Amino acid sequence: MAKMMSAPRGTRDVMPEDTPAWDRVEGVARDLARLYAFERIEIPLFERVELFARGLGETSDAVEKEMFRVAGAKGSQEEAAPWALRPEPTAGIVRAFIEHGMHVRPGPLRLTLIGPMFRYDRPQAGRYRQFSQWDVEVIGDPGPAVDAELIELGQRFYAEVGLTDAVARVNSIGDGECRPAYRDALIGYFSAHEERLSEDSRRRLRVNPLRVLDDKALPKDLAADAPRGIDHLCDACREHFDAVRGLLDQLGVPYELDHRLVRGLDYYTRTAFEFYVSGREGQQQALGGGGRYDGLVELLGGRATPGIGFGIGLDRTILAMEAQAITLPLRAPLVAILGTGNDHVRRLQIAATLREAGVAVRPDGSSRKLGKQLESAAKAGARWAVIIGEGEALALKDLASGEQRDAVSVEELAMAVSE
Ligand code: AMP
Repeated sequence: MAKMMSAPRGTRDVMPEDTPAWDRVEGVARDLARLYAFERIEIPLFERVELFARGLGETSDAVEKEMFRVAGAKGSQEEAAPWALRPEPTAGIVRAFIEHGMHVRPGPLRLTLIGPMFRYDRPQAGRYRQFSQWDVEVIGDPGPAVDAELIELGQRFYAEVGLTDAVARVNSIGDGECRPAYRDALIGYFSAHEERLSEDSRRRLRVNPLRVLDDKALPKDLAADAPRGIDHLCDACREHFDAVRGLLDQLGVPYELDHRLVRGLDYYTRTAFEFYVSGREGQQQALGGGGRYDGLVELLGGRATPGIGFGIGLDRTILAMEAQAITLPLRAPLVAILGTGNDHVRRLQIAATLREAGVAVRPDGSSRKLGKQLESAAKAGARWAVIIGEGEALALKDLASGEQRDAVSVEELAMAVSE
């Protein structure tokens, strides 16, 4: 026997019984994207490494440790290709925004996509090498109203999939004006406690001190006393953040302030947020996250344009739904069409008529005994069976109650199963 192959580490096959949950979360995302006036955009699954390095920052985990590199064909110029699978979509969307001169379109632009992202990380529960995100981006709006609108949108998404206890954690990490002083304050503070920092944090301390704050290994007392971003904001950033919070309060959107929330990527400025459900906390359990990136368009070669967006992790959303045993709407009722002889043409004709009426149909293609056909129809989850009998007379059997009506017309069938 040939050697059995399995899915690559960190990837998963989504089995048919699990796809209703995916349909649900993707459906809610699409409906909300429409209601909030987002337009769909698609970008490649891979881009030049340089785009991510410049956009996300050389010292971000996504670039430094988790870049999933793609090689070109053997012997081609691109054999050692400078490409990587996208770890997140914002850099690619901003690249497309600049490349297609989208700044001339009436803005602000509201863009959305749903699709796979890739990070070459150590796989564990809730952390995969391929995972899906629903992403929204608003480019060309300095806020603060849109910041509150996006946080409300995220909250609404979770509520609609049944995660009513999801809550946003928000913070402001300042901008080019005030962040340098905050960085210095963090470097000063943590340097004095360097021996208590993890190896990772010691390494980050001088290149990216904000990241020390989201190190899970950071001792609690050190974290509690660390300088807080909101105490170091310049006037413009403070006003912006106060306005975002004021809007959230007035809209009745629940949120918590989280002084340790810094997001992992360099491009973020000002408003940063993540979504959690209570009881599932820590880096691995963030269900989604986003923030403002007012410097990114310019950093990638465009003209200075503010932006903000979020990425919601659909895999973790579904895991949280499963943990809360959230029930999904039933599938459309299924009708099986069974026969007693060589009447396959008739089975397919009736199938066609019912499908025209919008009914999901599964004709039995076999000539097995009727009992066997009924058994497999029930196993396939059919709600009804249409049985073609002698002289093509039709019977409709309710597979749940076992009740059977004989001598029904095709029109009656369509009515009965659509009820
Ligand atoms: P991030 O921008 O890293 O905060 O990612 C946004 C969201 O995507 C997270 O809150 C997670 O829900 C999800 N996510 C990120 N990385 C992974 C991963 N390796 N596996 C599964 N979901 C992920």
